[in-house]
Amino acid sequence: MLGRRRSHQLVYSSAAWRSIHPLDRAHIILVAEHLKPMAYCGFSDLRDVREFVSKGLGIVVLQGVGPTSWQRSGLDRLVFPSLGYLVCNSPKILKAMTAARLSQGAMSMRLQGRLLGYPRCCVEEYMQPTYEKEFTIEVIKSVTDRWAFRFALEAVGLFLDGKSFPSEFYYRMPSQTPCSVSCRPSLKLLSRWAAVIEKYDPEAAEALTDGNKYMAVQLQAVAEKLRKRGFTSSAQLRRGYVHRT
Ligand SMILES: [Zn+2]
Repeated sequence: MLGRRRSHQLVYSSAAWRSIHPLDRAHIILVAEHLKPMAYCGFSDLRDVREFVSKGLGIVVLQGVGPTSWQRSGLDRLVFPSLGYLVCNSPKILKAMTAARLSQGAMSMRLQGRLLGYPRCCVEEYMQPTYEKEFTIEVIKSVTDRWAFRFALEAVGLFLDGKSFPSEFYYRMPSQTPCSVSCRPSLKLLSRWAAVIEKYDPEAAEALTDGNKYMAVQLQAVAEKLRKRGFTSSAQLRRGYVHRT
């Protein structure tokens, strides 16, 4: 019998593996390498490919689970699976998820967040957003039509302050919403994820980082628009008014 490492290498260098969308490969690598217990992603509609990859990587794949309405839109931005799969690294997780899906509600969401590998602070901010208390409606509206979360508002603030966007966030998964641009658990987690995805599949890493860079460019454009309206710093975004002289 092949060792785990050799078996994983065989999969990662196969044509079957490359037939899977590179963004989905990034999700699958994190699960197969035990960096997170579970992922919702696309996979392959070909049964032979699914069987070869799941057996070689020792993962459990369930079709038709998770979000199914998100559409792919090309490699130049983050894309979501059009046909959902649940990929996990142990049958126990599948059992826990089945129970969680039946219960729904807050406990189920917390469990899903944990199994997707997201830090607790980020799951809580996602479930009960706090940004409305801190940013004004004008600013929120200019940012969150597409990205309704604190992370995006703070990223715009970084650009206004002329600070750089932390490169760890280029490895953010499409459905991952860090609670803040300075979330330490996210930064730590993402630098680990980055190293592993880069090691096993540079093409998957490129697809993921390209999508996140596209989002950063869009947020930078929002910052420039706000600058034209008189906002010159992140502090002004928070206070919500502009000193006019
Ligand atoms: Zn967080």
